[in-house]
Amino acid sequence: MSKTVLILPGDGIGPEIVAEAKKVLDAINKSGSLGIEYSHGKLGGGSIDECGVPLSDETLALARESDAILLGAVGGPKWDQIDAAIRPEKGLLKIRSELELFANLRPAILYPQLAEASTLKPEVVSGLDILIVRELTGGIYFGQPRGIRTLENGERQGYNTYVYAEHEIERIGRNAFEMARKRGKKVCSVDKANVLEATVLWREVMDRLSAEYPDVELSHMYVDNAAMQLVRAPKQFDVIVTGNMFGDILSDAAAMLTGSIGMLPSASLDKNGCGMYEPCHGSAPDIAGQGIANPLATILSVAMMLRYSLDMPEAAVQVEEAVSKVLDQGLRTADIYTDGMQKVSTSEMGDAVVAAL
Ligand code: NAD
Repeated sequence: MSKTVLILPGDGIGPEIVAEAKKVLDAINKSGSLGIEYSHGKLGGGSIDECGVPLSDETLALARESDAILLGAVGGPKWDQIDAAIRPEKGLLKIRSELELFANLRPAILYPQLAEASTLKPEVVSGLDILIVRELTGGIYFGQPRGIRTLENGERQGYNTYVYAEHEIERIGRNAFEMARKRGKKVCSVDKANVLEATVLWREVMDRLSAEYPDVELSHMYVDNAAMQLVRAPKQFDVIVTGNMFGDILSDAAAMLTGSIGMLPSASLDKNGCGMYEPCHGSAPDIAGQGIANPLATILSVAMMLRYSLDMPEAAVQVEEAVSKVLDQGLRTADIYTDGMQKVSTSEMGDAVVAAL
């Protein structure tokens, strides 16, 4: 049966990097006669300009009908001053929650060819291969009540609510244990159980689940220590599972271990494996339109899509190997460029990956 992929280029460098990732998906689709079909929609600032909202009902309907979504990135200074309720990021949060994309997988892999691009010593990061599993549709980013209120003394107070129900913890926990089974068989659950009750429950549920996965080693770590350990000795981790906010922060820190955020893909999955695939970085308005953005994170997101939503693991490996091959050839976009390498544009990098396929 044919599969449908919804293409959402987004804002800033989004259209540039998605065009390259689509070239790669097209090539795989053609060579393997996979019959992948496309639909197209708008998300973020472009959607605000066209329809007044960051996620229209039409785009949401297309998303529900598709097997997978390929997203660039959303946002930019043009929309920074508009009403907070319709900012580009709201479209992103809405599509994640409407489709119940609760499991955000963010691998941080250091390609040996890029060991020099990391700000950490090569011996600390070389061979790094971590998977951060971040809960994406709950926690403090969605908890109610929230807002800014005025107290009796006239002072304003901002407030948010950190909530996790057992079923939310359980499903992300399962996801992490299952992922660990296919990798290094270690899960580190990150919380702040010494201070936050919501994460006391988180820890309890992880312990309970662990009995169902005797082949996977579970450890717990407070988030402050996890941040420190990530830069001190990151190779101690295999799979890290954590809530929405801690995952947001830790995965960006993990991203930098690998040298450039331009290399890191992500997947956000629902319980059936349908998912949205996007690079970890944002819309990089500072370099948009210059043809210098690194498309590899988006191309590697296509590999994740092939693996997790389209059930084509061999094709996923093909894409990953093609990326490794272009790095071996010394091709580098500006963000990962080091002396002696060959600097290429966004589209030259995409073409090189297609050629390497
Ligand atoms: P950013 O990730 O867009 O950029 C941070 C830095 O990394 C910039 O210097 C940028 O040039 C560089 N960079 C990012 N991606 C790159 C790539 N592929 N190749 C080369 N360099 C790259 O983060 P920011 O500057 O904090 O945010 C810019 C906009 O993106 C904001 O509007 C923000 O809200 C939005 N944003 C969107 C998402 C998303 O769509 N998922 C995520 C984060 C930020």
